[in-house]
Amino acid sequence: MNKVFVSRRVEKKLHKGQALLEEVDFPDLSETDQEVELFSQRKEFLGKAYLSRQNKGIGWFVTNQNISFKQTFFESLFKQAKLKRSSYYQDELTTAFRLFNQEGDGFGGMTLDLYGDYVVFSWYNSYIYGIRLEIIAAFSQVFPEVLGAYEKIRFKGLDYESAHIYGQEAAEYFTVLENGVLYQVFMNDGLMTGIFLDQHEVRGSLVDGLAMGKSLLNMFSYTAAFSVAAAMGGASETTSVDLAKRSRELSEAHFHANGLSLDNHRLLVMDVFEYFKYAKRKGLSYDVIVLDPPSFARNKKQTFSVAKDYHKLISQSLEILNPGGIIIASTNAANVSRQKFTEQIDKGFAGRKYQVLHKYGLPADFVYNEKDESSNYLKVITMKVSK
Ligand code: SAH
Repeated sequence: MNKVFVSRRVEKKLHKGQALLEEVDFPDLSETDQEVELFSQRKEFLGKAYLSRQNKGIGWFVTNQNISFKQTFFESLFKQAKLKRSSYYQDELTTAFRLFNQEGDGFGGMTLDLYGDYVVFSWYNSYIYGIRLEIIAAFSQVFPEVLGAYEKIRFKGLDYESAHIYGQEAAEYFTVLENGVLYQVFMNDGLMTGIFLDQHEVRGSLVDGLAMGKSLLNMFSYTAAFSVAAAMGGASETTSVDLAKRSRELSEAHFHANGLSLDNHRLLVMDVFEYFKYAKRKGLSYDVIVLDPPSFARNKKQTFSVAKDYHKLISQSLEILNPGGIIIASTNAANVSRQKFTEQIDKGFAGRKYQVLHKYGLPADFVYNEKDESSNYLKVITMKVSK
């Protein structure tokens, strides 16, 4: 077992509860993809970690216990994770939710999502991928009821990104329930599955009638999940806008799964900034506007980043929002703090007044590390604009 002696600064960081290890913390590191014992400069044992390069960071602190990352350890983590989700298991109106969320559940670099009878493992680095057989064996002990499993590769270096791993194969498309609404999902086509589970409380607010009797514009709609939730909650009409061609048929499938006709629901394959211009030209306006962009996006003409450009989405929305309308502002950008996000929103409002109706972070199944605010990456603010 490799012993690594960390600086006083890193030791402090670990004491504060941060689990993500960064490149600057390990300047002399030659080898990664290994389990390590961390020690202070004074040679005190700090805990167990692993090192492996991933999209963010260079590894994860795991525990101050001296245990190894074997099947029995993962079994105990999975048992705790399952217990924490008992309210989701009891909720008959929801069959899709997160089962294991990175360091929030005791091990960074991996997530598990349940979609009805199936589970999706996501591996964020090559170390965890390397020990996946132990993890999968532990999983099938604790979750024997899961019929089949898939994996998503969220790091560079392998020649595939999605695969079936064990048990039954799911139908190419099937439906899951969330707050009583059906959504069509797919387990084995790229990294996406047809729905972003971290938004279930926000969709829940729409199902519960936030947009009842109202018109809703859903920007960056992907499979139009917010629109379907709004339609099920009594919205009079919805318009969903996304650049990706495939978004249209996937969106239609969500509507059809719930027996909704598309008469009052438009699906547009279009750039959102073009749509803002179009709506203004045609004098279109909406009661509720949802803004949920990717953290970064590039098209032929421009690049968009939440950190710098979110205010433009707000100011453009205000031009086509009906008096007293609602904006649902959302971002999953981990690099943008709550404070920075609010600053972008306020810049977009440019002095116009609004009332905050609700603020959301990650829902309870996305257990995050409470000592590291950046791990609660989801930020959604529902605002009512003053007349
Ligand atoms: N709001 C969605 C998730 C959005 S994911 C949901 O709740 O499911 C981001 C989406 O933005 C992707 O589907 C991508 O195709 C789309 N997108 C990126 N840039 C865009 C642009 N300039 N105009 C319209 N859609 C865009």
